[in-house]
Amino acid sequence: MNEPRNVDEQEIAKFSELAERWWDPDGEMRPLHDINPLRLNYIDEAAPLPGLVALDVGCGGGLVSEGMARRGAGVTGIDLGAAPLAVARLHAEQQGMEVEYRQVPVEELAAERPEHYDLVTCLEMLEHVPDPGAVVAACARLTKPGGQLVFSTINRNPKSFLFAIVGGEYVLHLLPRGTHEYAKLIRPSELAAWCREAGLDVTDTTGMTFNPITGAYRLGRDVSVNYLLRACKPQAGAGA
Ligand code: SAH
Repeated sequence: MNEPRNVDEQEIAKFSELAERWWDPDGEMRPLHDINPLRLNYIDEAAPLPGLVALDVGCGGGLVSEGMARRGAGVTGIDLGAAPLAVARLHAEQQGMEVEYRQVPVEELAAERPEHYDLVTCLEMLEHVPDPGAVVAACARLTKPGGQLVFSTINRNPKSFLFAIVGGEYVLHLLPRGTHEYAKLIRPSELAAWCREAGLDVTDTTGMTFNPITGAYRLGRDVSVNYLLRACKPQAGAGA
């Protein structure tokens, strides 16, 4: 099998380097820690977590995977980075949490477990992948008919360039330099189109804004920089 995989190895290396400090709330991953309660609430609203079978794609060190497990879901977390996965496994074990972590491409898991999950999340990952539409399609395939999906990423426009890249990486140092590349950022309309192409219905788009004065994040209507998107997979036979 020599098919080119849908992965940018440099992206994997970048996150692997930071893996050790993934769970340090004051380390490089601080923005992910800060937004985690907002993200988990947004997911929980879309699909109440207790008892759900959930998949977290591009799980990294496991902030969302472990968070969902803590709220009562049975969780699988997948990533292609060995180091973040090792950190995720160790952290779950230390916390006495059960999460299945696997190093497997999402497209491969989709072939192995089609329509297996009530909920699929893929947060802050699509902007690091060569073909994000293919990831969305694989996520759709993994979801049970009637199941929910939650994606999040960064919009692409002059404001997001200024806020997420110049402000976030170079001025406020919220993230390491080079974390995000402008051309790989994704407009909500593009993400919504990939969802529709994958047979999903987009049910919500919500912005996540950062206030540099208070250092607080909140959810709202402004999707110009960070945003979350919910979709659902129609029941078999439903829709057009
Ligand atoms: N979703 C997590 C981590 C975001 S960081 C969170 O929001 O807390 C981005 C993650 O995407 C990294 O862990 C990186 O290893 C992973 N990643 C990048 N390209 C990937 C790919 N093609 N397949 C799977 N994971 C990938």
